[in-house]
Amino acid sequence: MKPEARADQTEGSKRNKGRIPRRKEPTEHEKFFREDRKDHEGFLKQKLAKEAKARQFWLPNSGFLTICHLSFVMRRRSRFKSKKCMSDKVAMAISAHPDDIEFYMAGTMLLLSAAGYDLHYLTVANGGCGGTQQDAVTIARTRAAEAKRAAEILGATFHPSFCNDLEIVYDLNLLRQLAAIIRAVKPGIILTHPPVDYMEDHTFTCRLVVTAAFAREMPNFVTTPARKPYSADVTIYHATPHGLTDPLRRLMIPELFVNTEDVHNRKCEALAAHKSQAAWLETSQGANSLISMLDAFSSKVGELSGRFRHAEGWWRHSHLGFCREDADPLRETLGSLTTTLKNP
Ligand SMILES: [Zn+2]
Repeated sequence: MKPEARADQTEGSKRNKGRIPRRKEPTEHEKFFREDRKDHEGFLKQKLAKEAKARQFWLPNSGFLTICHLSFVMRRRSRFKSKKCMSDKVAMAISAHPDDIEFYMAGTMLLLSAAGYDLHYLTVANGGCGGTQQDAVTIARTRAAEAKRAAEILGATFHPSFCNDLEIVYDLNLLRQLAAIIRAVKPGIILTHPPVDYMEDHTFTCRLVVTAAFAREMPNFVTTPARKPYSADVTIYHATPHGLTDPLRRLMIPELFVNTEDVHNRKCEALAAHKSQAAWLETSQGANSLISMLDAFSSKVGELSGRFRHAEGWWRHSHLGFCREDADPLRETLGSLTTTLKNP
């Protein structure tokens, strides 16, 4: 640094000494995330309040328990236990971008929903780079509305994104936010990208999901916002990579196939909710190409299964730190709608 510059800086710091620094104005992105977060925080607060109310049965105001009171508590306890079993049927899809869930996971989600599962829908990034004619904030706003609509069609609870496209990295701030959402939702099944895929947003989403889920029961890992850990099994399933190949162009054959033919139209409807992407691809690649891409992809996975016309493919993540070794809730729940290859 030049001596004059150092002198100017010293003068400047002398002038600013004792003054309260001016608060930095939030950027458009920050405002967007804050607005969206406000809605979502409301939803999560309600969910946590409900859970806290349920827990109150364990903490009677009086320190003295009569036999009558005890039997009342025991009755509530058994009811609470069976309710807890029900809430174990929670499946959460976590992808990198808006429309990834529809491409790789939505059919399985719809089938799980038909089997009594509560569904949750989260894309880590906001899709702001998915277009060339508008700025990132405008595109992100449009895509958040489209993703909300798609989640509605799938019957899933929507969770807003908290990152920009191409900015998903293995970062502590993102990890703390994702872990907080997982602690609030408490999913028994997580559907996400595979550890190898065509782009880094997908692979980093996968890594963040795995660690965030791993940290669900660790009290010394602090989440943002702070949420209490919980102890319950979670089974993670990885979806097929885009193009069904790894980054070195090698074919990736899933270990489990789910027959999505019966829910294919609904899956297409959810994908069509991403109108801005459909319009962008229609202009650049021809009519209805988004749906054509989905048709081609799920037919290809179906063909690999050797049994189904349309399918989604999955790999189970290691059980270590997550669930029982033999836990396979997808196969247990969907039964004859699944198949594996005899000689993969
Ligand atoms: Zn993507």
